[in-house]
Amino acid sequence: MERKNGIYADCAATTPVSPEVAAAMLPYFSENFGNPSSATRPGRDAGAAVATARAQTAALLGATPEEIFFTSCGTESNNWVVRGLAAEAIRSGSGRRRFLVSAVEHPSVLRACEAMSPFGFQTERIPVDENGATSPEALARMIGEDCLLTAVMHSNNETGVLQPVKTCAEIAHSRGALFLTDAVQSAGHVPLNARKLGCDFLSISGHKLNAPKGIGALYVKSGVVLPPLIDGGGQENGKRSGTENVPYIVGLGEACRRAAERLSAGEAERLAGLRNRIEASLLTLGRCRVNGGGAPRTPGTLNMSFACAQGESVMLLCDMRGLYISTGSACSMGRGEDVSHVLRAMRTPENMANGSIRISIGDGTTEEEAERIVDILTDCIRRLRSVSAEWENITKQE
Ligand code: PLP
Repeated sequence: MERKNGIYADCAATTPVSPEVAAAMLPYFSENFGNPSSATRPGRDAGAAVATARAQTAALLGATPEEIFFTSCGTESNNWVVRGLAAEAIRSGSGRRRFLVSAVEHPSVLRACEAMSPFGFQTERIPVDENGATSPEALARMIGEDCLLTAVMHSNNETGVLQPVKTCAEIAHSRGALFLTDAVQSAGHVPLNARKLGCDFLSISGHKLNAPKGIGALYVKSGVVLPPLIDGGGQENGKRSGTENVPYIVGLGEACRRAAERLSAGEAERLAGLRNRIEASLLTLGRCRVNGGGAPRTPGTLNMSFACAQGESVMLLCDMRGLYISTGSACSMGRGEDVSHVLRAMRTPENMANGSIRISIGDGTTEEEAERIVDILTDCIRRLRSVSAEWENITKQE
Protein backbone atom coordinates (compact mmCIF):
# COMPACT_ATOMS: atom_id res chain seq x y z
CA MET A 1 0.00 0.00 0.00
CA GLU A 2 1.39 3.37 -1.08
CA ARG A 3 2.05 5.58 1.92
CA LYS A 4 3.04 9.20 1.83
CA ASN A 5 6.63 8.06 2.15
CA GLY A 6 6.81 4.74 0.39
CA ILE A 7 5.35 1.30 -0.18
CA TYR A 8 4.39 -0.86 2.78
CA ALA A 9 4.88 -4.59 2.14
CA ASP A 10 5.21 -5.86 5.71
CA CYS A 11 1.59 -6.76 6.46
CA ALA A 12 2.56 -9.95 8.30
CA ALA A 13 4.24 -7.71 10.90
CA THR A 14 1.26 -5.40 11.25
CA THR A 15 -1.42 -3.66 9.21
CA PRO A 16 -2.82 -0.13 9.37
CA VAL A 17 -6.23 0.38 10.98
CA SER A 18 -8.63 0.75 8.07
CA PRO A 19 -10.70 3.97 7.93
CA GLU A 20 -13.96 1.98 8.33
CA VAL A 21 -12.59 0.33 11.47
CA ALA A 22 -11.39 3.65 12.90
CA ALA A 23 -14.79 5.22 12.18
CA ALA A 24 -16.63 2.36 13.90
CA MET A 25 -14.38 2.68 16.98
CA LEU A 26 -14.46 6.44 17.37
CA PRO A 27 -17.83 6.93 19.15
CA TYR A 28 -16.82 4.38 21.80
CA PHE A 29 -14.03 6.67 23.02
CA SER A 30 -16.35 9.58 23.66
CA GLU A 31 -20.17 9.66 23.45
CA ASN A 32 -20.57 5.88 23.96
CA PHE A 33 -18.03 5.53 26.72
CA GLY A 34 -20.10 3.31 29.04
CA ASN A 35 -18.85 0.34 31.02
CA PRO A 36 -20.57 -2.83 29.72
CA SER A 37 -20.90 -4.06 33.31
CA SER A 38 -23.11 -1.07 34.25
CA ALA A 39 -26.84 -1.63 34.19
CA THR A 40 -27.56 1.95 33.07
CA ARG A 41 -28.21 3.05 29.49
CA PRO A 42 -24.56 3.94 28.64
CA GLY A 43 -23.49 0.55 29.99
CA ARG A 44 -26.19 -1.29 28.05
CA ASP A 45 -25.19 0.52 24.84
CA ALA A 46 -21.54 -0.45 25.32
CA GLY A 47 -22.58 -4.01 26.14
CA ALA A 48 -24.65 -4.20 22.96
CA ALA A 49 -21.64 -3.04 20.91
CA VAL A 50 -19.47 -5.73 22.50
CA ALA A 51 -22.15 -8.33 21.71
CA THR A 52 -22.24 -7.22 18.05
CA ALA A 53 -18.44 -7.44 17.83
CA ARG A 54 -18.50 -10.91 19.38
CA ALA A 55 -21.02 -12.07 16.78
CA GLN A 56 -18.94 -10.53 13.94
CA THR A 57 -15.77 -12.21 15.21
CA ALA A 58 -17.56 -15.54 15.64
CA ALA A 59 -18.95 -15.33 12.10
CA LEU A 60 -15.45 -14.94 10.59
CA LEU A 61 -14.18 -17.95 12.55
CA GLY A 62 -17.13 -20.32 12.08
CA ALA A 63 -17.90 -20.22 15.81
CA THR A 64 -20.80 -19.24 18.04
CA PRO A 65 -20.55 -15.92 19.94
CA GLU A 66 -20.39 -17.81 23.28
CA GLU A 67 -17.17 -19.44 22.10
CA ILE A 68 -15.35 -16.10 21.56
CA PHE A 69 -13.37 -14.39 24.34
CA PHE A 70 -11.68 -11.03 23.81
CA THR A 71 -8.07 -10.69 24.97
CA SER A 72 -5.35 -8.05 24.65
CA CYS A 73 -3.49 -9.73 21.75
CA GLY A 74 -2.55 -12.97 20.03
CA THR A 75 0.27 -13.50 22.53
CA GLU A 76 -2.17 -13.40 25.44
CA SER A 77 -4.56 -15.80 23.69
CA ASN A 78 -1.79 -18.36 23.17
CA ASN A 79 -0.39 -17.93 26.68
CA TRP A 80 -3.84 -18.31 28.17
CA VAL A 81 -4.28 -21.73 26.57
CA VAL A 82 -0.86 -23.03 27.59
CA ARG A 83 -0.77 -21.64 31.13
CA GLY A 84 -4.44 -22.29 31.76
CA LEU A 85 -4.19 -25.94 30.76
CA ALA A 86 -0.98 -26.42 32.75
CA ALA A 87 -2.66 -24.96 35.85
CA GLU A 88 -5.66 -27.22 35.37
CA ALA A 89 -3.45 -30.32 34.91
CA ILE A 90 -1.64 -29.50 38.17
CA ARG A 91 -4.91 -28.84 40.01
CA SER A 92 -6.52 -32.05 38.83
CA GLY A 93 -3.38 -34.17 39.22
CA SER A 94 -3.60 -35.28 35.60
CA GLY A 95 -0.64 -37.23 34.26
CA ARG A 96 -0.67 -35.28 31.01
CA ARG A 97 2.56 -33.28 31.17
CA ARG A 98 3.76 -32.98 27.55
CA PHE A 99 3.28 -30.21 25.04
CA LEU A 100 3.78 -31.17 21.40
CA VAL A 101 4.21 -28.08 19.28
CA SER A 102 5.13 -27.56 15.66
CA ALA A 103 8.79 -26.62 15.25
CA VAL A 104 7.71 -23.47 13.38
CA GLU A 105 5.29 -22.11 16.03
CA HIS A 106 5.37 -18.47 17.01
CA PRO A 107 7.36 -17.73 20.23
CA SER A 108 4.09 -16.92 22.02
CA VAL A 109 3.32 -20.65 21.87
CA LEU A 110 6.84 -22.11 21.97
CA ARG A 111 8.14 -20.00 24.83
CA ALA A 112 4.90 -20.21 26.82
CA CYS A 113 5.16 -24.01 26.71
CA GLU A 114 8.86 -24.00 27.54
CA ALA A 115 8.17 -21.66 30.47
CA MET A 116 6.14 -24.47 32.06
CA SER A 117 9.19 -26.73 32.48
CA PRO A 118 9.87 -25.73 36.15
CA PHE A 119 6.36 -27.03 36.90
CA GLY A 120 7.09 -30.46 35.44
CA PHE A 121 5.98 -29.97 31.83
CA GLN A 122 8.01 -31.04 28.83
CA THR A 123 7.90 -29.41 25.40
CA GLU A 124 8.77 -31.25 22.21
CA ARG A 125 8.86 -29.84 18.70
CA ILE A 126 7.08 -31.64 15.88
CA PRO A 127 9.36 -31.62 12.82
CA VAL A 128 8.40 -29.95 9.56
CA ASP A 129 9.24 -30.89 5.97
CA GLU A 130 11.48 -28.83 3.69
CA ASN A 131 8.55 -26.53 2.92
CA GLY A 132 7.92 -25.86 6.58
CA ALA A 133 4.70 -27.92 6.78
CA THR A 134 4.28 -29.82 10.06
CA SER A 135 4.52 -33.58 9.69
CA PRO A 136 1.35 -35.38 10.86
CA GLU A 137 3.27 -38.67 10.64
CA ALA A 138 5.86 -37.39 13.10
CA LEU A 139 3.10 -36.15 15.40
CA ALA A 140 1.44 -39.57 15.28
CA ARG A 141 4.74 -41.19 16.27
CA MET A 142 5.44 -38.72 19.08
CA ILE A 143 2.04 -38.47 20.72
CA GLY A 144 0.95 -40.55 23.69
CA GLU A 145 -1.58 -40.51 26.51
CA ASP A 146 0.73 -38.10 28.39
CA CYS A 147 0.21 -35.26 25.87
CA LEU A 148 -1.75 -32.36 27.33
CA LEU A 149 -1.80 -30.04 24.32
CA THR A 150 -0.79 -30.21 20.68
CA ALA A 151 -0.27 -26.85 18.96
CA VAL A 152 0.00 -26.44 15.19
CA MET A 153 -0.42 -22.94 13.82
CA HIS A 154 -2.84 -22.35 10.94
CA SER A 155 -0.28 -20.55 8.80
CA ASN A 156 3.29 -19.60 9.46
CA ASN A 157 4.20 -15.96 10.02
CA GLU A 158 7.51 -16.14 8.13
CA THR A 159 6.62 -18.23 5.10
CA GLY A 160 2.82 -18.12 4.99
CA VAL A 161 2.77 -21.92 4.71
CA LEU A 162 -0.64 -23.36 5.60
CA GLN A 163 -0.40 -26.24 8.05
CA PRO A 164 -2.23 -29.60 8.14
CA VAL A 165 -4.36 -28.44 11.07
CA LYS A 166 -7.37 -30.73 10.64
CA THR A 167 -5.27 -33.90 10.41
CA CYS A 168 -3.11 -32.90 13.38
CA ALA A 169 -6.21 -32.08 15.46
CA GLU A 170 -7.60 -35.55 14.72
CA ILE A 171 -4.33 -37.17 15.79
CA ALA A 172 -4.26 -35.12 19.01
CA HIS A 173 -7.84 -36.03 19.84
CA SER A 174 -7.27 -39.73 19.12
CA ARG A 175 -4.92 -39.73 22.14
CA GLY A 176 -7.10 -37.51 24.32
CA ALA A 177 -4.97 -34.35 23.95
CA LEU A 178 -6.40 -30.89 23.38
CA PHE A 179 -5.53 -28.93 20.23
CA LEU A 180 -4.62 -25.26 19.68
CA THR A 181 -4.21 -23.55 16.34
CA ASP A 182 -2.66 -20.08 16.22
CA ALA A 183 -4.57 -18.47 13.36
CA VAL A 184 -3.10 -14.98 13.83
CA GLN A 185 -1.69 -14.92 10.28
CA SER A 186 -4.72 -16.58 8.70
CA ALA A 187 -7.76 -14.81 10.15
CA GLY A 188 -9.20 -12.54 7.50
CA HIS A 189 -6.74 -13.77 4.87
CA VAL A 190 -8.08 -17.26 4.17
CA PRO A 191 -11.47 -18.78 5.03
CA LEU A 192 -11.48 -20.25 8.55
CA ASN A 193 -13.91 -22.52 10.32
CA ALA A 194 -12.88 -23.49 13.84
CA ARG A 195 -15.51 -26.20 14.08
CA LYS A 196 -14.61 -27.85 10.77
CA LEU A 197 -10.91 -27.68 11.64
CA GLY A 198 -11.74 -29.60 14.80
CA CYS A 199 -9.65 -27.44 17.12
CA ASP A 200 -10.38 -26.77 20.78
CA PHE A 201 -8.69 -23.36 20.75
CA LEU A 202 -7.98 -20.86 17.99
CA SER A 203 -6.23 -17.53 18.52
CA ILE A 204 -6.36 -14.32 16.47
CA SER A 205 -4.90 -10.81 16.69
CA GLY A 206 -6.55 -7.56 15.61
CA HIS A 207 -3.52 -5.80 14.17
CA LYS A 208 -2.97 -8.43 11.48
CA LEU A 209 -6.35 -7.71 9.91
CA ASN A 210 -6.65 -3.93 9.94
CA ALA A 211 -7.87 -3.54 13.54
CA PRO A 212 -5.64 -1.87 16.16
CA LYS A 213 -2.75 -3.39 18.09
CA GLY A 214 -3.69 -4.46 21.61
CA ILE A 215 -6.79 -6.49 20.86
CA GLY A 216 -7.12 -10.20 20.20
CA ALA A 217 -9.51 -13.05 20.70
CA LEU A 218 -9.53 -16.69 21.64
CA TYR A 219 -12.03 -19.28 20.40
CA VAL A 220 -12.69 -21.91 23.04
CA LYS A 221 -14.82 -24.76 21.79
CA SER A 222 -18.05 -25.10 23.69
CA GLY A 223 -17.67 -27.58 26.57
CA VAL A 224 -13.85 -27.38 26.72
CA VAL A 225 -12.53 -26.42 30.17
CA LEU A 226 -9.98 -23.59 30.27
CA PRO A 227 -9.45 -21.83 33.61
CA PRO A 228 -8.99 -18.04 33.48
CA LEU A 229 -5.54 -16.53 33.17
CA ILE A 230 -6.75 -13.24 34.66
CA ASP A 231 -9.12 -13.22 37.62
CA GLY A 232 -11.14 -10.26 38.81
CA GLY A 233 -14.58 -8.85 38.14
CA GLY A 234 -15.74 -11.79 36.05
CA GLN A 235 -16.02 -10.14 32.63
CA GLU A 236 -16.07 -12.33 29.51
CA ASN A 237 -18.32 -14.84 31.22
CA GLY A 238 -15.90 -15.14 34.12
CA LYS A 239 -13.10 -16.29 31.81
CA ARG A 240 -11.10 -13.10 31.26
CA SER A 241 -11.57 -10.36 33.82
CA GLY A 242 -10.83 -6.68 33.29
CA THR A 243 -13.18 -3.98 32.04
CA GLU A 244 -13.73 -4.61 28.35
CA ASN A 245 -11.71 -2.48 25.93
CA VAL A 246 -14.91 -1.48 24.15
CA PRO A 247 -13.53 0.68 21.29
CA TYR A 248 -10.90 -1.93 20.39
CA ILE A 249 -13.38 -4.78 20.63
CA VAL A 250 -15.71 -2.83 18.32
CA GLY A 251 -12.73 -2.32 15.97
CA LEU A 252 -11.93 -6.02 15.91
CA GLY A 253 -15.56 -6.87 15.19
CA GLU A 254 -15.72 -4.41 12.31
CA ALA A 255 -12.40 -5.65 10.94
CA CYS A 256 -13.74 -9.23 11.01
CA ARG A 257 -16.93 -8.13 9.24
CA ARG A 258 -14.92 -6.32 6.54
CA ALA A 259 -12.52 -9.23 6.15
CA ALA A 260 -15.40 -11.67 5.59
CA GLU A 261 -16.84 -9.31 2.98
CA ARG A 262 -13.49 -8.95 1.20
CA LEU A 263 -12.88 -12.67 1.24
CA SER A 264 -16.20 -13.31 -0.47
CA ALA A 265 -15.39 -10.57 -3.01
CA GLY A 266 -12.21 -12.47 -4.07
CA GLU A 267 -9.53 -10.51 -2.17
CA ALA A 268 -7.51 -13.68 -1.44
CA GLU A 269 -7.36 -14.52 -5.16
CA ARG A 270 -6.39 -10.93 -6.03
CA LEU A 271 -3.54 -10.95 -3.51
CA ALA A 272 -2.34 -14.41 -4.55
CA GLY A 273 -2.23 -13.16 -8.15
CA LEU A 274 -0.09 -10.17 -7.18
CA ARG A 275 2.14 -12.27 -4.93
CA ASN A 276 2.68 -14.84 -7.69
CA ARG A 277 3.66 -12.11 -10.14
CA ILE A 278 6.17 -10.63 -7.71
CA GLU A 279 7.54 -14.12 -7.07
CA ALA A 280 7.87 -15.00 -10.76
CA SER A 281 9.67 -11.73 -11.54
CA LEU A 282 12.11 -12.07 -8.64
CA LEU A 283 12.90 -15.67 -9.56
CA THR A 284 14.40 -14.39 -12.83
CA LEU A 285 17.26 -12.92 -10.74
CA GLY A 286 18.60 -16.46 -10.43
CA ARG A 287 20.37 -18.20 -7.52
CA CYS A 288 17.38 -17.74 -5.28
CA ARG A 289 14.60 -19.80 -3.79
CA VAL A 290 11.08 -19.41 -2.47
CA ASN A 291 10.99 -20.65 1.11
CA GLY A 292 7.86 -22.74 1.48
CA GLY A 293 7.12 -22.34 -2.23
CA GLY A 294 6.22 -26.02 -2.64
CA ALA A 295 3.30 -25.82 -0.17
CA PRO A 296 -0.03 -23.97 -0.14
CA ARG A 297 0.45 -20.53 1.42
CA THR A 298 -1.54 -17.54 2.64
CA PRO A 299 -2.10 -15.32 -0.40
CA GLY A 300 -0.13 -12.20 0.56
CA THR A 301 3.08 -13.71 1.93
CA LEU A 302 6.29 -14.40 0.03
CA ASN A 303 9.54 -15.52 1.66
CA MET A 304 12.57 -15.64 -0.63
CA SER A 305 16.30 -16.14 -0.26
CA PHE A 306 18.92 -14.72 -2.60
CA ALA A 307 22.49 -15.98 -2.74
CA CYS A 308 25.09 -13.25 -2.12
CA ALA A 309 22.53 -10.76 -0.82
CA GLN A 310 22.11 -10.76 2.98
CA GLY A 311 18.46 -10.41 3.98
CA GLU A 312 19.23 -7.61 6.41
CA SER A 313 21.15 -5.64 3.77
CA VAL A 314 18.32 -6.07 1.24
CA MET A 315 15.82 -4.89 3.83
CA LEU A 316 17.88 -1.83 4.77
CA LEU A 317 18.57 -0.85 1.16
CA CYS A 318 14.86 -1.19 0.38
CA ASP A 319 14.05 0.89 3.46
CA MET A 320 16.26 3.70 2.09
CA ARG A 321 14.32 3.48 -1.17
CA GLY A 322 10.95 3.66 0.62
CA LEU A 323 10.00 -0.02 0.33
CA TYR A 324 9.20 -1.61 3.68
CA ILE A 325 9.71 -5.38 3.92
CA SER A 326 11.30 -7.58 6.56
CA THR A 327 13.75 -10.39 7.10
CA GLY A 328 11.81 -13.41 8.37
CA SER A 329 9.54 -12.28 11.18
CA ALA A 330 9.42 -8.96 13.00
CA CYS A 331 9.54 -10.94 16.25
CA SER A 332 13.01 -12.41 15.71
CA MET A 333 14.54 -9.05 14.71
CA GLY A 334 17.13 -7.78 17.12
CA ARG A 335 17.03 -10.96 19.22
CA GLY A 336 20.38 -12.17 17.98
CA GLU A 337 18.89 -15.01 15.92
CA ASP A 338 21.21 -15.30 12.93
CA VAL A 339 18.87 -17.71 11.18
CA SER A 340 15.23 -17.90 12.19
CA HIS A 341 14.04 -21.07 13.96
CA VAL A 342 11.52 -21.50 11.13
CA LEU A 343 14.07 -21.60 8.30
CA ARG A 344 16.34 -23.74 10.47
CA ALA A 345 13.54 -26.24 11.11
CA MET A 346 12.95 -26.36 7.31
CA ARG A 347 16.64 -27.22 6.88
CA THR A 348 17.18 -24.21 4.63
CA PRO A 349 20.86 -24.14 3.61
CA GLU A 350 22.72 -21.60 5.79
CA ASN A 351 23.79 -19.35 2.89
CA MET A 352 20.18 -19.15 1.70
CA ALA A 353 18.64 -18.70 5.17
CA ASN A 354 20.88 -15.66 5.74
CA GLY A 355 19.61 -14.09 2.58
CA SER A 356 15.93 -14.45 3.41
CA ILE A 357 13.41 -11.65 3.10
CA ARG A 358 9.65 -11.58 3.66
CA ILE A 359 7.39 -9.52 1.46
CA SER A 360 3.84 -9.43 2.77
CA ILE A 361 1.20 -7.51 0.88
CA GLY A 362 -2.36 -6.84 1.94
CA ASP A 363 -5.52 -4.79 1.80
CA GLY A 364 -4.76 -1.85 -0.44
CA THR A 365 -1.67 -3.21 -2.27
CA THR A 366 -2.13 -2.29 -5.94
CA GLU A 367 -0.78 -3.68 -9.22
CA GLU A 368 1.43 -0.62 -9.67
CA GLU A 369 2.88 -1.15 -6.23
CA ALA A 370 3.56 -4.80 -6.99
CA GLU A 371 5.58 -3.63 -10.01
CA ARG A 372 7.46 -1.07 -7.93
CA ILE A 373 8.20 -3.76 -5.31
CA VAL A 374 9.82 -5.88 -8.04
CA ASP A 375 11.77 -2.94 -9.50
CA ILE A 376 13.16 -1.76 -6.17
CA LEU A 377 14.04 -5.26 -4.96
CA THR A 378 15.68 -6.17 -8.26
CA ASP A 379 17.80 -3.06 -8.11
CA CYS A 380 18.80 -3.58 -4.47
CA ILE A 381 19.70 -7.25 -4.94
CA ARG A 382 21.72 -6.48 -8.10
CA ARG A 383 23.59 -3.72 -6.27
CA LEU A 384 24.48 -6.01 -3.38
CA ARG A 385 25.59 -8.76 -5.72
CA SER A 386 27.69 -6.34 -7.75
CA VAL A 387 29.92 -5.76 -4.70
CA SER A 388 30.05 -9.40 -3.63
CA ALA A 389 33.30 -11.28 -4.30
CA GLU A 390 31.39 -14.55 -3.91
CA TRP A 391 28.93 -13.50 -6.60
CA GLU A 392 31.79 -12.55 -8.89
CA ASN A 393 33.29 -16.04 -8.42
CA ILE A 394 29.98 -17.73 -9.10
CA THR A 395 29.32 -15.76 -12.26
CA LYS A 396 32.92 -16.23 -13.51
CA GLN A 397 32.50 -19.99 -13.30
CA GLU A 398 29.33 -19.94 -15.42
N1 PLP B 1 1.14 -15.66 16.43
C1 PLP B 1 1.63 -15.36 15.21
C2 PLP B 1 1.67 -16.41 14.17
C3 PLP B 1 2.08 -14.07 14.94
O1 PLP B 1 2.57 -13.78 13.73
C4 PLP B 1 2.03 -13.10 15.97
C5 PLP B 1 2.54 -11.73 15.74
O2 PLP B 1 3.34 -11.48 14.88
C6 PLP B 1 1.49 -13.46 17.21
C7 PLP B 1 1.06 -14.75 17.40
C8 PLP B 1 1.39 -12.48 18.33
O3 PLP B 1 0.30 -11.62 18.14
P1 PLP B 1 0.26 -10.21 18.93
O4 PLP B 1 1.21 -9.31 18.22
O5 PLP B 1 -1.16 -9.77 18.83
O6 PLP B 1 0.64 -10.49 20.31
